[in-house]
Amino acid sequence: MVTSHRVGPAAIYVEGESVARVGKGGLFPSETFNAKGLLVFPGVVDAHVHFALPVAGTRSADDFRSGSLAAAAGGVTTFIDFTVGHPAIPLPEALERRLKEARVSAVDYSFHVEMVGWESHRLEEIAAVGELGVRSFKFYLAYSESGRRTSLGVLRSAMEAIAKIGGVAMVHAEADELVDPKGGPFPWARPAVSEEVAIASVGILARETRCPTYIAHISSGQGLAALLAARRAKAPLMGETCPHYLLLDERVYSRPDGHLFSVTPPLRTPVDQKALWRALARRELQAVATDHCPFTRAQKDPYREEPQKLPSGLPGVETLFILLFSAGVGEGRLRPSDLAWHLAEGPARAFGLWPKKGGIQPGSDADLVFLDPKATWTIHAEDLHMATDFSPYEGFSVRGKVVGVLSRGEWVYRDGEILAKPGRGKFVAWQG
Ligand SMILES: [Zn+2]
Repeated sequence: MVTSHRVGPAAIYVEGESVARVGKGGLFPSETFNAKGLLVFPGVVDAHVHFALPVAGTRSADDFRSGSLAAAAGGVTTFIDFTVGHPAIPLPEALERRLKEARVSAVDYSFHVEMVGWESHRLEEIAAVGELGVRSFKFYLAYSESGRRTSLGVLRSAMEAIAKIGGVAMVHAEADELVDPKGGPFPWARPAVSEEVAIASVGILARETRCPTYIAHISSGQGLAALLAARRAKAPLMGETCPHYLLLDERVYSRPDGHLFSVTPPLRTPVDQKALWRALARRELQAVATDHCPFTRAQKDPYREEPQKLPSGLPGVETLFILLFSAGVGEGRLRPSDLAWHLAEGPARAFGLWPKKGGIQPGSDADLVFLDPKATWTIHAEDLHMATDFSPYEGFSVRGKVVGVLSRGEWVYRDGEILAKPGRGKFVAWQG
């Protein structure tokens, strides 16, 4: 059994949907699963996915059904998606709409409330949505060209309100003035300095408002340095990075299929990757999440020569755990317990899901991932279940294989077969 603070042999007793006890013996279970030779991790919490996201005149390719089934196959037993923000839609209504869409999910889920066109006179909506069990709010500091940007003034008043309800501000940190949207989702148009400036500004507001603030998808060493500096100055900042920033770099953009790797923020350099891996080994971040937002070739190909129209986003929810295990633990960069932190406990704590999610302890949901650490295999898009026809990791050979996944005590994936039924997933409200 692997948790953030403990690695060792254990018997995990599951009763109904929860973990009843973790120990050595004494109970007489009706059914036993012998996990000898396997590592057992807490179910992965992917804190950042976009299923059925309307964007760039299209929709991300996975809906809640296909996306949550792929999640189950990859060991992700809880995902956090986003509402679709709109200036004319009150926040509670945006949440209700998305909750309805998510009912087909095969694993458990929660939401961040996307703040688009929100203005300070709507402060009471923040408390109202908190009453519905969602206390995380997402802001964009970039994307003024599509009207999604929030000014620092509006962000500041929102952060004060969020702090009052014990919530979290989640920020897409790219300084709008330092980005050239016409250049497309590439590093020459969206430089690392835009991330650094944005994180530094947000850090100051977090310090002043005392609002716990989570920086999404940190891509660069510069951005990371700004986060750590703000934290030293007592800003309550948390941080996330994604598998693509750890495993891919900007050289892919010169490939003939380079446009398929469009993602925002863009991929950076091997030096940035090194800085991010080091931060994970020191547990300086709260989460590795995917920002899963897949598009098919047919959705990306027409805009090869029109970078400003190219849909941004990569598939990831199904490969999150295995890529991090293989490149992290397999290659000696991380300990297994670090993985249990960044993929389960860290994000569960950041977004109010702990201790129900993210750990293996009495009372927590019986969400478990069984991994064969010795198995090796090669990633091919055609073997995966996400609704896209390419993988950014095509041909990567990986160490470790997910052989079984329990969600609330029920097998949702076992020996290569997805057993989860769409609709069995439940909304998880902010705990406490
Ligand atoms: Zn995102």
